[in-house]
This record gives sequence, structure tokens and C-alpha cells, in this order.
Amino acid sequence: MKQINKVTTWIDENETEVIGFLQDIIRIPSVNPWFEDEKYPMKEKEVQLFIEDYLKKMGFETDLWEPVADELAQYEGRAGYYAGRDFTDRPNLYGELKGNGSGKSILLAGHIDVVKPGSEWTVDPFGGELIDGKIYGRGTTDMKGGVAAMIMAVKAILASGVKLSGTIKVGTLADEEAGGMGTLAFVDKGYRADACIMTEPSSLSVMPMCRGILWGKLIIEGRSGHIEMPQGDWRTGGAVDAIEKARLYLEHFRHLNKDWEVRKTHPLLPIPCQLHVAQINAGEYPTAFANQAEIVFNAQYLPSERDELLMGGNVKKEIEELINAVAKTDPWLKENPPEVEWLIDADCAEISPDHEFVQVFSNTLESIGEPVTVEGMSSHTDMGWFINVGIPTVNFGPGEPRIAHQSDEYVTSDELIRSTKAIAATILNWCGTEKE
Ligand SMILES: [Zn+2]
Repeated sequence: MKQINKVTTWIDENETEVIGFLQDIIRIPSVNPWFEDEKYPMKEKEVQLFIEDYLKKMGFETDLWEPVADELAQYEGRAGYYAGRDFTDRPNLYGELKGNGSGKSILLAGHIDVVKPGSEWTVDPFGGELIDGKIYGRGTTDMKGGVAAMIMAVKAILASGVKLSGTIKVGTLADEEAGGMGTLAFVDKGYRADACIMTEPSSLSVMPMCRGILWGKLIIEGRSGHIEMPQGDWRTGGAVDAIEKARLYLEHFRHLNKDWEVRKTHPLLPIPCQLHVAQINAGEYPTAFANQAEIVFNAQYLPSERDELLMGGNVKKEIEELINAVAKTDPWLKENPPEVEWLIDADCAEISPDHEFVQVFSNTLESIGEPVTVEGMSSHTDMGWFINVGIPTVNFGPGEPRIAHQSDEYVTSDELIRSTKAIAATILNWCGTEKE
């Protein structure tokens, strides 16, 4: 029997074990402590110890360590760095299983923290229940499903007796859901590979790119005053309606999006980059003109737009210039220019869809009868640092990205099994195997 068939047959015959591994790690709640407003168990360490034990039993050498924010201070201003972040009981895990040395190495990477469950669950968010072909729980899609698929892919290869030429490396990372410092610490430690599969949910699409995301808050000052009374000119003490000024910006953001619609497209992305208004906060009570308006927006950027730190500085500048130009057209705003507060800059990266690794991955999918889709990820993932240090990386994993962070989050057992097979087969084709 062909080696790939052996491995995929093992996965079919051991479906319960593959699903069971996912259920086990769902049942260890590893909520990122950034979501500390709710009392949920934050067991990043427990899930890492569980995975470490599993890897060791398969023959992996492991390294489990808690990152130290102070030791990463050189990355100030770059992706994933947050001064003073606490990693107590929040270790990263690295595992390595050496091949015979003649093949290429592969890194399988995923984060083990999850967002808080939130409300409106109809099942236990940490129950890992399997109902009608769906495995439920916080993190099933984002992204313990992917972590289970990549580890069970390795298990399937070893259990089938296939000997790899290249080395398999596994990285399970803390703290993705609040900024990505786990990935930064991992890369800083010097771990590298000839290619990487990051198993974020992609519905089994091969995703060689992701977009950068900016969150900004535009703060527009007005001047309160009785809404029912004549106010007169602001220069003589009259009120200024901050909502009216905010309207000006909403209109200009619409124009900006018309321009971005043609200027900021990417051949692998289904939608262009846009500046979307997500929140508007203004005014204090019904009888006063709003003395302040805040517009919170989400703007996306492409890898080709990154600045010298590989971040969104150029796009921030573009947005700030628009805001300033609009202010110059209004006498009040000219004297009271609005300010932008940048809340988040989540980085992005890409490799060419023609890259050898993308080709090997696509050909593998085709050879095992899976549809081949190569497309970009419209949101951010932690793939940036891997690509920045020279590891060709794609996102590929089970689950629909839009299901992430929802109540009643689930992954189908069908996608879990199919992605486990696809990852296993890609490892064989990329790392090479010893002849039988
Ligand atoms: Zn994720």
C-alpha cells in the first residue's frame, strides 16, 4: 500500500481517537487572561502540559517555557510586543522529532489560548460534545481543531510506521487572542523550519497570506449647549455639535472606501481593504449638543503597504492625512483638530502562491481528492513573524473562520478528519519518506 494511503487509512480507522484528542483539549479551558472580566478558568499551562506529554510519548524532544516580556523589549513598536505582559503559568511549547536528515523540515504551529465563551451557549462551552457530526466548544474552530489535526497527523504517520526524512517541529503558542506575543517569543528563541503550516481555521483552503488590521478611535471635540435655544456663532461662545462634525467624517470615509475599493484589492482576497466604522459614541443627554464624538473604526491593510517595521504605519499616515485635510475645510475643526488614537495594529504577511510549498500543498490536496482553493485570509493571523524570519508559511485548518468567537462554536468531524489527512499527506510530500 502507498504510504499516503496507509496514513489516511489509519486516520479513518482511528477517527474516534482524532476526535477524542480534540475533545480532551477543549475540556481544558485555556481562556486568555486578557478576558479577565469573566470568571473562566485560564489553563494555558494545563493544555500545554497535556500536549507536551502526548508529544513525548510519540518520541518528541520538547521545550516548555514561559516567555518574559522584559527580555523581548528590543521588539518595542513591532508586531506582538506588549510591555509588561505576564506569562506566569502561560508557557509556549516547542517539540521536535528528528527525521533521518535528508529531507526538508516542517513546522506545525497553532495557538492554544481561546477567547472567553460569552453568553447564549446552548451546550457546555468546555464540554467538547459531539452532536450530529459537530464537535462543540470554545476553541473548536479557533483553533484547537487545527491543533488537534496537526498533532493527530503526526500520530497517524508514526502509527502507520512511515519513516520521515525531514524533521517535524511543533509549536503550540500562548497569547494569540490578545496580541500574539507567544509567537514573537517563539521566533525570538530561534526556532525555524523550511516551511510552516499554521492551522488556523481556513475551511481547508490554503492561505498563503493574511491582512493587517488597524483599530483607530477618532475623537472629535464639540462644545455643549442647550439644544432648544438659539446658540449663535461658536466664535461668540455658541455651541458646536460634535455629531454634526462627526457626520463630515463619516461622509469622507465613504469616499475613501470608494477609492480603496479600486486601489486596495489583492488577487487572493474576496474583498478590498476598507475603513469600516464599528462604533459611534457621542453626546451626554437629550437637551445638550454633543460636546464630543468618538468614531471607532477598523481598517485593513495589505502586506505590500507595510512600513519599515513591517507594520501599518503607512496606512495610519494615510488615514491621519485625510482626517487633517478634512479638518482644514471647517473653521471649528481647523482650530480644534480631531485626534486619532491607534488601538491595535495587527500585522500581516504573504508568500507567493507560486511558492514551492504552496505548490506541494495544492498538489497533495488534489492527489487525495480534496478541492484545491488558494486564497487570502481577510483577517489577521500570527503568520507574520514566521514569514518575516524566513519561514514560508500558509494557514490551513478545519473550521470556518467566521464561526470563531461565536457562541455554540463548533467544528465538524468531517473537516477535522479531512484536514488531519491533508496535513499528514503534505508532511509526507514535503519532508520526504524512507523507501519501504
Ligand atoms: Zn485563532
